[in-house]
Amino acid sequence: MITSRRTLMAGIGGLGLSGCVAATPRLAAAPGFAPQPLAPLRMDPDRITHITVCLRPFRAAGPRMDIETIGGKRVVHNYGHGGSGWSLSWGAAAIAARNAMADGRRDIAVIGCGAIGITTALTLQRAGARVTIYARERLPQTRSARATGTWSPDSRIADANAVTAQFPALWEAMARASFPIHQSYVGLPGDPVVWSDRYTLLSPGLPRPPRPAGAIHFAEYGERIADIVPPFRSLSRAQHPFPVDTVRHGTSMQFNVAALGQRLMQDFLIEGGHIEQAHFETPADFARLSQPVVVNCTGYGARALMRDDSIVPVRGQIAWLAPQPEVRYGLYYRSVSILPRNDGIVVQYVGDSDMWGYGIDSETPDRGEAERAIAVVAALF
Ligand SMILES: Cc1cc2nc3c(=O)[nH]c(=O)nc-3n(C[C@H](O)[C@H](O)[C@H](O)COP(=O)(O)OP(=O)(O)OC[C@H]3O[C@@H](n4cnc5c(N)ncnc54)[C@H](O)[C@@H]3O)c2cc1C
Repeated sequence: MITSRRTLMAGIGGLGLSGCVAATPRLAAAPGFAPQPLAPLRMDPDRITHITVCLRPFRAAGPRMDIETIGGKRVVHNYGHGGSGWSLSWGAAAIAARNAMADGRRDIAVIGCGAIGITTALTLQRAGARVTIYARERLPQTRSARATGTWSPDSRIADANAVTAQFPALWEAMARASFPIHQSYVGLPGDPVVWSDRYTLLSPGLPRPPRPAGAIHFAEYGERIADIVPPFRSLSRAQHPFPVDTVRHGTSMQFNVAALGQRLMQDFLIEGGHIEQAHFETPADFARLSQPVVVNCTGYGARALMRDDSIVPVRGQIAWLAPQPEVRYGLYYRSVSILPRNDGIVVQYVGDSDMWGYGIDSETPDRGEAERAIAVVAALF
């Protein structure tokens, strides 16, 4: 599931991080809890269909959302959403759209067609703008398409020590604005957004791994929206089927990114939007656009385009196993997260801390990492 271990382990408190497998797996759910037994995950490396790698565009100060004038055009920035781009997309889009339309102009170029670009374009369109998206890649080819697909609004969104005093409230506004819009996609054909059960499997008493030297204090804002997000609660040994002592259970929002992306692209085109393939070497290239207002949603690409070294890549890899439609729950166990997407079972090693992958810009798949992660979860079944 899951881009950050913190998100995976929601509400865990001071428990140890690594799980401990008991002798005999027991896959039928305990009486009185789940009405159906949990379908077993088929954790077999032979079921890997592909491995994808993505780079989170992390900025210590949080996403860049300011406005500047470049070559006479109003340029509104909306990039650098770390491991939270899908989750915060609609809220970030609302802010960018307000900034873009503040002086009343309605002809707007959006650069980028990932999670942030497409939601910004739709939000502008719904506010009455004529929108053209210019992008090197369209959604299925973008980094956004390689995301886990879970509600993770404060995953590597900022360094708590580097944000302004106003940022936590801005984050909260984005999260609160995004949450209901995502829910409006629940139940639509193709299941673009669903709610799924999640189990976090732990062994209490094991020490937390030491904090890596020089580690970023990744901001944690989940408490600010605890009133709208379903809680995680501990299950007793009799209430879960897993061969570990401590299990927490909750229900989380899940983005089936392939279906969601297709739906958003279709909506944008049906509502009169245009998409053009384009590459911009420098911001001076914005001058060739006819629109007077440009919204820059280039994600990690902004590092090169804007020469913005404040964007740090945080690498993350997913091994995709062939879909198992009968599996409708995600789990987290020994730093491995599983999410049952309709386009495949997401298997992701998330490391001992959120520093995992920090500063690494390699997008080359690591088959060894994928097979080790599968073996960890296979031990449960
Ligand atoms: C492994 C992993 C798992 C993740 N899981 C989740 C999750 O579960 N939930 C969540 O909320 N977030 C998740 N994220 C974070 C999320 O994927 C990102 O925050 C999000 O994809 C950023 O979207 P974006 O639209 O800004 O960037 P991108 O998807 O990179 O899109 C950028 C767009 O700009 C275009 N572009 C870039 N440069 C140029 C240029 N010079 N000229 C023309 N076009 C250009 C690109 O072609 C593309 O269309 C995850 C990230 C990773 C790495």
